[in-house]
This record gives sequence, C-alpha cells and structure tokens, in this order.
Amino acid sequence: MEKLISVIAPMFNEELLVEKYCAVTLSVLREIKGYKHEIILVNDGSSDKTFQFMMEQHQNFPDEIGVVGLSRNFGLEGAVNAGLRKAKGDIIVVMDADLQDPPQLIPQMLKKVENGADIVSASRAARKHDGFLKKITASLYYKLLNNLSGKLNLEKDAANYRMLTRKALNILLELPETNGVFRITVPYIGLKTDVVEYDRDVRFAGKTKYHFKSMFQYAMASITGISVEPLEKVLYSIPLCGLGFIISLIGIFVADDTWKMVWTGILFASIFTGILSACLSVIAIYLGEVLLEVKHRPSAIITEYVPSKNSEEV
Ligand code: UDP
Ligand code: MG
Repeated sequence: MEKLISVIAPMFNEELLVEKYCAVTLSVLREIKGYKHEIILVNDGSSDKTFQFMMEQHQNFPDEIGVVGLSRNFGLEGAVNAGLRKAKGDIIVVMDADLQDPPQLIPQMLKKVENGADIVSASRAARKHDGFLKKITASLYYKLLNNLSGKLNLEKDAANYRMLTRKALNILLELPETNGVFRITVPYIGLKTDVVEYDRDVRFAGKTKYHFKSMFQYAMASITGISVEPLEKVLYSIPLCGLGFIISLIGIFVADDTWKMVWTGILFASIFTGILSACLSVIAIYLGEVLLEVKHRPSAIITEYVPSKNSEEV
C-alpha cells in the first residue's frame, strides 16, 4: 500500500491565502510518485472567512484536504500541535501556510527521508525579503538559542518547516509537556536529522501575525523550553552586587563633597536595583512557564475535524 504524506498548514485569518496555498501545495504533492497525500488545514480561531474557504477546499478535493477547527485562537504552536494530533501520515510535514515556506521543497525533503533521515529541517539560507529589524532580532534569537542549546543540535535558522517520519512524530507526541515549542521539541527528540536549505520568500498575501510582543513571547518560550541556564546565571548577580558595594564604600571614603557622595550612592543603588530586577524578571519568566505547564491544559481544543478521504484509508 502507498504511504501517506500529511502536510499540516496552520492558518489564522488567512482568507486571502487558503485557495492559493492549496493549489500550489497540491500541485507539488500530485507530482510525487509512489505516495498518497493529504493537506490538513488547521483553522486557528480565525475571525474572517478562512474556515469557510477551508471547507470549500475540502468539498472540492475531499480525498486530499482535511480540515481541523479550533475553538478559538491558540497561536501557531497550538495549531501545529492540533494538526500533528490528527495527522495519519507515514510522513508528516509542518509548514507555514503563507507560501513563505515553499512547498516545492517537499520532494527534496522526502529524498532525505528515503535516504534514512527521520527528521528533515528546512533552514533559511537567506532572508533577502526580511526587514532590517527582523534580520537583527532573528539573528540574535538564533545566536542566543544556540548558546543555550547544550547537548541539543539546533540546525541553523530552522523554524517550523520540517518533515518527520511517523516514528519521530510518535515520539514527539509522547512528550508530556503541553507548552512545548515545536522548533525546540523536535531537535530534543534526537534521531537522524538532515537539513535542506532554502531562500525564504515574501508572504503571498495578508499580513504577518507576529509583532514585537508575540515575537518576544515566542522567544521567551523557546528559551525556557531549551535550557535553565539563564536561571543559573542569576547567581552572577551576587558577586556583581558585592563588587558594587565595595566600590561604593571606597567612593564614600574618597569623596569629600557631600553631594558627590549622595550621587555616587544613588548611582550604585540604581545599578543594584537594575541587576536585581533583571534577575527577578528571569525568575518570573521561568515561573510563568512552570505555572502554564503544571496546569496541564491542552495546547489547543479541537472542535471540528473533517478528515480527508486519503487519511481514512490508513
Ligand atoms: N498562525 C497561526 N496562528 C496564529 C498566528 C499565526 O496559525 O496565532 C499561522 C499563520 O496563519 C501562518 C503561520 O502561522 O500560516 C506563520 O505566521 P506568520 O506568517 O504571521 O509569521 P511570520 O512568517 O511573519 O513569522
Ligand atoms: Mg509568514
């Protein structure tokens, strides 16, 4: 029997994209010989016509398109996780649905799986179309993650565009955490991993859903998901504050003018407060993640599932 490829495409308010994404991706999948395929469109609580257009795609291509609907907007991680839970494929692809992750890469990724890889990550070789700020913040983000990655092998500039074998997906779904970040949990499981490189395109239509606040939250979730090293670094505040204390003492003895002494005191008090606030913030971020995790709430609630016919035969 032919193996099934399940492609997971999370969408939040992407009414301008549904039809084009399906057309482009289906045209690539139909060219792959020896495999059946399905696209699982995940509607992440959109308020526009995304879900309606998804259902139209299912009606037009019932064999090839399945639809998962979430009860509200859970964010990309929740949407991806919901798709993963419903994927029946022997081979699973996760990708953004705005055509920034080119579907044309799928055959190349599949070759790597056929050659023995359990995970294939797509790494962004160039970010020609990203703005200056996005390039800088992305480069800092990946550098920081790499520094913290310890024994994990993070592929350079790889985000969510990945292909997994059923073996890899089953291991991933067994991880008990509910707030895992896909780009961290995938390298965590290990297994034989390969990489394909690509140039990231511009969005086909619509606007990015990630702005500074959500990008910051995403970055924090990845960092807490990968390492507790920042928590250990909080200890560095003790010698730093000690050093500041000694310098202040010397300042008090050396300074002769009273105002000079007062300002020196204020300066050092603010430096200590700054260091301590930074440490408290690190602890607070980790504490927040712990609280989210101990609640054991699912990362997304699925309210609708219309499977593709191809997946029902599995
Ligand atoms: N997305 C989602 N839920 C959200 C935000 C985004 O499912 O709450 C989807 C979105 O529709 C797209 C993918 O995640 O398919 C990547 O989002 P986006 O293109 O806005 O991110 P960027 O490429 O700008 O980082
Ligand atoms: Mg995008």
